[in-house]
Amino acid sequence: MAAQSYDRLEGVIWYDGKVLPWNDANLHVLSHGLHYGSCVFEGERAYGGQIFKNKEHAERLKRSANLLDFDIPYSVAEIMAAKQTVVEKNGRKEAYVRPVAWRGSEMMGVSAQSNTIHLAIASWEWPSYFDPEQRLKGIRLDLAEYRRPDPKTAPSTAKAAGLYMICTISKHRAERRGYADAMMLDWQGRVAECTGANIFFTKDGKIHTPTADCFLDGITRQTVIALAKKRGIEVIERRIMPDELTGFAECFITGSAAEVTAVAEIADWRFTPAAITKQLMDDYTAEVQPKAAAA
Ligand code: PMP
Repeated sequence: MAAQSYDRLEGVIWYDGKVLPWNDANLHVLSHGLHYGSCVFEGERAYGGQIFKNKEHAERLKRSANLLDFDIPYSVAEIMAAKQTVVEKNGRKEAYVRPVAWRGSEMMGVSAQSNTIHLAIASWEWPSYFDPEQRLKGIRLDLAEYRRPDPKTAPSTAKAAGLYMICTISKHRAERRGYADAMMLDWQGRVAECTGANIFFTKDGKIHTPTADCFLDGITRQTVIALAKKRGIEVIERRIMPDELTGFAECFITGSAAEVTAVAEIADWRFTPAAITKQLMDDYTAEVQPKAAAA
């Protein structure tokens, strides 16, 4: 059970252009975003007071909204500045940052053509998912029953609240069965990703990762691919079927929250975290450190 409910934390939340006390950042129960899932969000981290990939996350938020047929009424620059303000005012240099945008209450039905679009940004303390030793030892993943949807059946590349319905169900089932998380296949039965992170494997010194054609092409995923290439490690993005998992040596997952986390098991498959995972964990830790402002 969470030590403290998120609606009771202290600090400020940026809400439609105003900086409000945490307790005042409320919305009405008759909000389209709640009833019909017209809601998009981001998950990001500040390190040393600076939000990592601030711009990329703001751009993705706007893009996710467009995929749900709405426009966030703030520019990328305004969203970036608002996020930074929240982090500064909440006074934590290491923080998780959560922007969320949703359709309001003017229309309450499937159609929501004239609903106001709201944007709120909160930040709170969120330490590493796992302690460094555990993160290298490797977590255990279940195999989810639900699959990532066909892009023809959902806006599958948006970071949209509705797409997390199957993630929460899958993660709950995994946790009940004693796992940390679940790996999901896609609608074609290919390996896809986890419920909140992308997945990578290694074989013969090369990295293999599923092509991000029906799930989030994570900002951490892109960062880690670039870091691997910088080390001269070949990265192969391709279709990976589950029966291939036997042939992989290492496995790790990536995400803004999970950072780089080793995987030791996926159902009956076993992996041994080793040099590549360790290297990319270290490289990612170095990469997220705040950069000195250009002279
Ligand atoms: N897939 C899903 C389903 C996620 O929720 C996340 C976390 N946002 C990711 C992948 C990784 O994305 P990112 O690296 O941009 O955090």
